[in-house]
Amino acid sequence: MPRAKKKKSLAKGLLLPGFYISTIEEFSAKSGAYEDGGGVYSSKVGLPEYDGMEHYVSVKPFKVSAPERLILGASYVGLVSDVHKNFAQVTIFSKDQLGRPVPFSALLHVSRGGVRRARAATELVKPGDAVVVKLITNWVPLQVSMEGPELGVVRASCSKCGAPLTWDHDGVLKCHACGHREIRKVSVDYGRKNLHSALIN
Ligand SMILES: [Zn+2]
Repeated sequence: MPRAKKKKSLAKGLLLPGFYISTIEEFSAKSGAYEDGGGVYSSKVGLPEYDGMEHYVSVKPFKVSAPERLILGASYVGLVSDVHKNFAQVTIFSKDQLGRPVPFSALLHVSRGGVRRARAATELVKPGDAVVVKLITNWVPLQVSMEGPELGVVRASCSKCGAPLTWDHDGVLKCHACGHREIRKVSVDYGRKNLHSALIN
C-alpha cells in the first residue's frame, strides 16, 4: 500500500498561510489551499482535511476559542492599554472560581466605538481609561464594542495633570484641577460608584 506510506508524512497540525501540505501528485488543492510549483500549500490559518478518495486537500479555517468563562454579548469592565489610529487595545476582566480577576486582551475597532463620526480610536478612548465594553467575538483575537449608551468610558484622568475628569457635556470630560477638556465616548454610567465590582462576570 504505497499510499498509506505517503500519508504518514502529510501535514496534520495547525497550518499557517504558505505552509507546505503535500505534492500535487498526492492531493489537489481545494478551498483554503493552493498549488504552486508541484506542491500544495495552505492559504489560511487552519487544519488540513484530506479526501483520500478524491485526492483533494482543503484547509478548514481554525478559530481559537475564547475561554469558556467569557460570555458573548456580555458587558465587561476593561482598561485601555494602547490606542492606535484604527483600534485600541483593552484588557477586560473576568474572574476565576475564587473571585479573583482574570485579565484578557481584546481589541476595540474604531468602527465599533459607538461614535459614527469618529475617524480614529484616539477620539474615543485614551490609555488608562476604564471602560465598559461588550464582547462581540468569542474567538481570539477577542473583539469588543462600545455601541450603546451604557457602554464607553466610565473613569478617566486628565492627560495634562492626572486629576480625575468629570462629566461636562455629551462626549466631553472636564478637569476641575486645570480646566482642560477632553473628548471620549462616554458611558451614561460615567463616574458611578461601585461599577467596577458590579460588572466583573
Ligand atoms: Zn487637569
